[in-house]
Amino acid sequence: MSLQEIQSRIEAAETAAGRKAGSVTLIAVSKMQPDDRVVGVLEQGHRHFGENRVQEAEGKWPGFRERFDGIVLHLVGPLQTNKARQAMELCDAIHSLDRPKLANTLARLAQERGACPDLFVQVNTGEEAQKAGILPADADGFIEECRKLDLPVRGLMCIPPVEEEPSLHFALLAKIAHRNGVDGLSMGMSSDFERAIAQGATHVRVGSAIFGERPAG
Ligand SMILES: *Cc1c(COP(=O)(O)O)cnc(C)c1O
Repeated sequence: MSLQEIQSRIEAAETAAGRKAGSVTLIAVSKMQPDDRVVGVLEQGHRHFGENRVQEAEGKWPGFRERFDGIVLHLVGPLQTNKARQAMELCDAIHSLDRPKLANTLARLAQERGACPDLFVQVNTGEEAQKAGILPADADGFIEECRKLDLPVRGLMCIPPVEEEPSLHFALLAKIAHRNGVDGLSMGMSSDFERAIAQGATHVRVGSAIFGERPAG
């Protein structure tokens, strides 16, 4: 599917949900995609991209930034504290703030640098043991803790369990955001971004539907 088709589907979903055109930011998730596909999307004027590993982002994006202005890079994958500094230097937004230790590290580095990327708190809405994220019951407390550390919490993020209807998880994330006065909602991927928009997504993270299937490895 082309970038244009995804953009029209997003517009249609915005309209269907009674939302303003342009209220949803499309993050093109380029992890593991060959450079020529990424350049193709950059050449069409798209600027928001997502990566899920710091090391891969480090290898690709400084070069793309030299060639294209206005790139906004989002880290959507898990972040180890020992990669936090690198992530902050490289990315404009981090969608995987998922534990107190990482919050403390980001806060210390933000003080030191005098700047911090936009942050999204990842919530493990399905309470899956193998998945990252703050449990829903702990989310209010964690958001408060992050704010006390002066961290710029712009939104919440979730990845619903594969076997479950994602709309229920999107609605839960929206509810947690609402009661905490958080505006951003990073939710929805290739298979469910329209349902996420119906539930209030402000950022959808779409990879394979734009770039094609990721090469194995
Ligand atoms: C890979 C990835 C995506 C995009 O997945 P697709 O199914 O290819 O759209 C979105 N969010 C996260 C966190 C990812 O790791």
